[in-house]
Amino acid sequence: MGVFEIVAKDLGGRIGRLYTKSGVVETPALFPVVDPRKQEVPSEVLKRYFGQVITNSYFIYRLAKGGDVNVKRLLKWDGVVMTDSGAYQILRYGTVDVDPDEILLYQHKIGSDIGVILDLPFDYEEPYHSALLKVEETLRRARRATRLLKDLDMLVVAPIQGATYLDLLRRSARELSQMGFPIYAVGSPTTLLEEYRFDTILEIVLEAKMAMVRDAPLHLFGAGHPLILPFAVALGVDLFDSASYILYARDGRIMLRDRTLRLDDAKSEYLPCSTKLCQTPVKELREMPREERTLLIAEHNLAVLREELMEIRQRIHEGTLWEYLEAKARAHPSLYRFLKKLSKFRRYIEALDPETHPKPHGLFFYHDTSPSRPEPLRHFTRLENVDPPSKKALVVKASTKPYNRSWEYRYLKELVGERVHIIFYDPVFGAVPEELAEVYPLSQNEAEGESEEARARLYEWLNRYDEIYTYGVDIPLVGKAVRRLSSIEDARYIA
Ligand SMILES: [Zn+2]
Repeated sequence: MGVFEIVAKDLGGRIGRLYTKSGVVETPALFPVVDPRKQEVPSEVLKRYFGQVITNSYFIYRLAKGGDVNVKRLLKWDGVVMTDSGAYQILRYGTVDVDPDEILLYQHKIGSDIGVILDLPFDYEEPYHSALLKVEETLRRARRATRLLKDLDMLVVAPIQGATYLDLLRRSARELSQMGFPIYAVGSPTTLLEEYRFDTILEIVLEAKMAMVRDAPLHLFGAGHPLILPFAVALGVDLFDSASYILYARDGRIMLRDRTLRLDDAKSEYLPCSTKLCQTPVKELREMPREERTLLIAEHNLAVLREELMEIRQRIHEGTLWEYLEAKARAHPSLYRFLKKLSKFRRYIEALDPETHPKPHGLFFYHDTSPSRPEPLRHFTRLENVDPPSKKALVVKASTKPYNRSWEYRYLKELVGERVHIIFYDPVFGAVPEELAEVYPLSQNEAEGESEEARARLYEWLNRYDEIYTYGVDIPLVGKAVRRLSSIEDARYIA
């Protein structure tokens, strides 16, 4: 058994179990960031919501002057501890005064369960030539680290570099994948997150995921907002870390599942939530000593992040992650934009998505965003293998699903027998040949509106026939004449 076991899947998202020496992390999981120099939120509070934390080993290294420390004792934490290598400090201050091998070994020495190699991160504004140098240096460091892997009682994370330079990103993902690290990571440039440019971050994730080894767990650095979590999970991210719960708390920003609310902007008597924070009247919160309030908001933020992850897990089990993304996409235009754009990558998503779920469920379709989801594409692909049994097609709009049990079908079948191939018109799937009508999810869905692509695909499909008849559907000329039956009985005259 490997270190990561996948338990359930939906789209590219998965529920998994990551085995560390201190216990199992149930994924998708978030590691709250804890500052070893000043722990603002006590461990007991963190523990109510999360079984794992991440801290900065470079701070500990500096604090202890490279000496022997036990990270769990230091943090008063007995769950799983992940350590970062100080790469973020490079990003902010340009350099850290420690050797990359040394800081990796140090993470092991202090008892970290998951360590990260010291990469050379860069922001998305980095010029190409220096980005290239940093990617190459990180690959060199990773290669050197592989020699240490077997001696370390710690899972090691290899960060995939490249940011918005997709060629570098793909190269980094491919080359690192060949080195066999137990965990991979992608950085999410903090500036992008702060500017709510979720679509850019998600595209980076998607590109990295497409180029890397698929089954390995993927960590997304620094993306700790309930808005981005389900999208990142749907693309295949398993692990997150974030200091957002406390950073937001410090300036009175309250995370909600679909947005961020500033305490200053809260107008009602109470906040729209039921955590400890939110049971206190807003007026009292405003008058409270700052530190006390910060702690309460931080705890609320942790609770909301946990709730979001629980929702995501439930959605994966149900197989309704896509529906959840559609609902969530309305919360911010950049998410909506991303979801629509995902149609470009749907072949990839379709390949990751399990074809059937343990418990088949009804799907909801919306004309604007649902064409990006995997099921229509899967149907169009399946259609390519269907050989029409007749050169005559009758396109029908049936009143009930499954279409082949509708009264229209039974009636028409009596009249035309095998002379004519009956095709149902479906607003999402386009052409549904009679023999496929009961294939999941062709009859287990509820659609609002119709997709343009479904019509286009239907017209294309009709090119296979010499004679086309329709009943209840308007179809313009598709290369050849289309005869519309004015009443269902007229079907008997199709010779
Ligand atoms: Zn609350």
